[in-house]
Amino acid sequence: MLRTPLLIAARSAACRTFVERTPLTRAMVTRFVAGTTQEETLPVVGDLTTDRLVTLDYLGEDVADAAQAQSTVTAYTRLLTALGEQGLAPRAEVSVKLSAVGQFLPADGQKIALDNARQICASAAAVGTTVTLDMEDHTTTDSTLAILRELRVDFPWVGAVLQAYLRRTEADCRDLAHEGSRVRLCKGAYDEPESVAYRDKAEVDRSYVRCLKVLMNGSGYPMVASHDPRIVKITGHLASVAGRTPDSYEYQMLYGIRTEEQAALAAEGKRMRVYVPYGEEWYGYYMRRLAERPANLAFFARSLVGR
Ligand code: FAD
Repeated sequence: MLRTPLLIAARSAACRTFVERTPLTRAMVTRFVAGTTQEETLPVVGDLTTDRLVTLDYLGEDVADAAQAQSTVTAYTRLLTALGEQGLAPRAEVSVKLSAVGQFLPADGQKIALDNARQICASAAAVGTTVTLDMEDHTTTDSTLAILRELRVDFPWVGAVLQAYLRRTEADCRDLAHEGSRVRLCKGAYDEPESVAYRDKAEVDRSYVRCLKVLMNGSGYPMVASHDPRIVKITGHLASVAGRTPDSYEYQMLYGIRTEEQAALAAEGKRMRVYVPYGEEWYGYYMRRLAERPANLAFFARSLVGR
C-alpha cells in the first residue's frame, strides 16, 4: 500500500528537501549507503572483497545538464583508477545508471549517454574490470538495451539489468541469454503501470523464476540479484539442473541487506557480489529501499518523532 506513494516521493523535489533535512535521516542512510565520498567507501570495498565481489554505484540519476553528466563520468574514472591502484579491480566492478550520464537530456540524450558510458567502459577496461548498466523505469528499457548493444561492440563484457516485473522481460532474457552476455536479473524497483508490468508480488515472483530458467539454461552469465530466500534456493536448484559450475553465475545483494546471508553464500564457495552505492545523491536510492520493505519505513518514522 505504501510502495506507490514512496516511489512517487522518490521523484519529488519537495519530499527530497524534507527528507534530507530530517536530522536522523543521515544516520539511517548509512545502513544502505557505504559513504558519501570515494575515500570513505574504498575501505568498505576492501573489507567486503575479502570474501565477496563488489559492484560500485556512484549515486545520482536524472541529471539536468551535460556538465552534470560529465562530472558523473569524472567520478567513475577517478573511482576506476583508484580500484586499479589499490589492487581491487579484479574483485570490484561498477554499475552505471544511464540517466546519470545524460540519457534524459532533451537534445541528443541517447548519444550523450552512449559517449559518456563509452568513456567509463574505457576506464574500466584500462584496469581490467567490467561495467553493468542499471535499469531504470520502463520508459528507458529500449534506449538502455540499444546503448548496451552499441557498447558491446567494443566492450563485449558490458552487462545489463533486466527486471522480472516487466511483462517483456522473459523475451528480453531469451535475446540476452547468449555466450558472453552478462545479465543481472532483479524484480524491479520502480512504480510501473499494469499495462507493462505485473503488479502482484506472486506474479512478479513467478516471472522471476521463468526468466531465471531462461538465463540458467542459456549460455550467458546470470547474475541473480535478489534477497528473497526462495529465489536463492531455486537458483541453486536451477544451476544444478542446467549443469552449471559455481563460477558460471553469481548471486548479488545490496549493501546493508541480508548481510549474514551474503557471508553464508560466500562461505559455501558461491560467487556473491554486493552492490555498494556511495555519494551525496542518495535520496532516490534510499527512498526505493524504504518502498521495498515497510519495516524500513517504520524505523524511519520512529526517527522523525525522535525515538
Ligand atoms: P523481495 O521479495 O522484495 O524481498 C525479499 C526479502 O529480502 C524481504 O522479505 C526482505 O527480507 C529482504 N529485503 C528486500 N528488500 C529489502 C530492503 N529494501 N530492506 C530490507 N530488507 C529487504 N532494481 C531496478 O529496478 N533496477 C536495477 O538496476 C536494480 N539493480 C539491483 C541490483 C542488485 C544487486 C539488487 C540486489 C537489486 C537491484 N534492484 C534493481 C532492486 C530490485 O529490483 C528489488 O527492488 C530489490 O532487490 C528487492 O527485491 P528482492 O528480490 O530482494 O525480493
